[in-house]
Amino acid sequence: MNEYDSDRIKNALGAEPTDNPKSADIIIINTCAIREKADQKAFSSLGKYKSLKANHPEKIVGISGCVAQLYGDKLLKKMPHIDFVLGPRAIPKLPDIISAIEREKKRTVETSYDIEELFEIEPYHKEGKVTAFVSVQQGCNKRCSYCIVPRVRGDEVNRSLKDILRETNNLVNKGVREITFIGQTVNSWKENGYKFGDLIRAAGDIENLERIRFTTSYPRDITKRMIDAMKDVPQVCHHLHLPVQSGSNKVLSMMKRTYTREWYVDTINRLKDAVPDLSVSTDIIIGFPGETGQDFEETMSLMKEVEFESSYSFKFSPRPTTAAADYAEKETVEPDVASARLSELQAYQKDITSKKNQSRVGQVEEVLVEGESKNDPNFLSGRTDHNRILNFEGAKDLVGKTVKVKVTEGLLNSLRGELAV
Ligand code: SAM
Repeated sequence: MNEYDSDRIKNALGAEPTDNPKSADIIIINTCAIREKADQKAFSSLGKYKSLKANHPEKIVGISGCVAQLYGDKLLKKMPHIDFVLGPRAIPKLPDIISAIEREKKRTVETSYDIEELFEIEPYHKEGKVTAFVSVQQGCNKRCSYCIVPRVRGDEVNRSLKDILRETNNLVNKGVREITFIGQTVNSWKENGYKFGDLIRAAGDIENLERIRFTTSYPRDITKRMIDAMKDVPQVCHHLHLPVQSGSNKVLSMMKRTYTREWYVDTINRLKDAVPDLSVSTDIIIGFPGETGQDFEETMSLMKEVEFESSYSFKFSPRPTTAAADYAEKETVEPDVASARLSELQAYQKDITSKKNQSRVGQVEEVLVEGESKNDPNFLSGRTDHNRILNFEGAKDLVGKTVKVKVTEGLLNSLRGELAV
């Protein structure tokens, strides 16, 4: 989501992006507030531009995103070197804000939730890129007790089907072959009687769109209509990111996740009945206030029962304004206990991911070639249908094409292979 917003910011400015702050006219730190570490990172990044701004007062420095929304005008007081604070909903207002600063040298805070034309600015698209995100929704109507997203991104607003398809079509016409629909709870998307399954079906009718992905799905919003669409639309990739957060019903209830462990497992089974080779990844929070050793064991037993393809796991971080931050004042899991649990869970996941990757050796996978491998420019890189990175040797003109690659090695974070003819 933040990557998408950063690309919208680039487009809103209509300027060439640079990695070199010294040559930039405008410097914007786009921030995430989901965990305390991310928000500290935002402050330290901003601090870095203090002396640059002192030496070049003509440069405009701003903060955008969720940290901007959370702290608002306090940031202007705390950081005299910044010119503006821009909440995530206010990106369409950025061009006017920059003009006003240039004209009047007036420091600005824009953190209103009521922005019209919320989806107006589309993201910057690098020529030749074959994958792209399309936002279908902003904000969130769920009230998970640990999560700051509804506070900083506001309530859920769904984009119109027409607008989503228009942006998707435009991207496909520019050469994009894989679209990822994004939203905080993407599969709760609805508009005028259309539901998420209908959106997938409509996208499936777009000529030359080879792959459809979406993230992040909310377990309770998985419906038969959605499962049927996943089964019927051939472009839908067989990978689903479905955050479970915990395997303990007691913790799930305190998190206000609205489902039980049994319900989650049953949903995975229903999905796999429809799409038998579906790979599933998840998010887990460790050390939620009141999580006992027994609760953690239940999370480990869920990991063993489902055998996720991969998982992102985090130590609970109390966030301002959330209900769980209050629980944490009364009942906190000791940091070393939480660290030990996190290490145990991550070691288990590593093992499963490696085994799953090794089990692909000898298989021929379809790969949409995205470009050179990040680690070795002699290799091309792309993703399999199941969202595994697969690197292989091949000519550069394969970029943008879908090719068959035989897997020769299964590593922890990727696969290696060779072109199959
Ligand atoms: N709307 C998305 C969802 O519900 O899955 C939110 C995604 S959030 C950016 C990614 C993950 O961060 C969540 O799934 C959760 O595991 C984790 N997370 C969110 N709030 C957290 C907190 N206070 N402490 C630790 N992890 C948190």
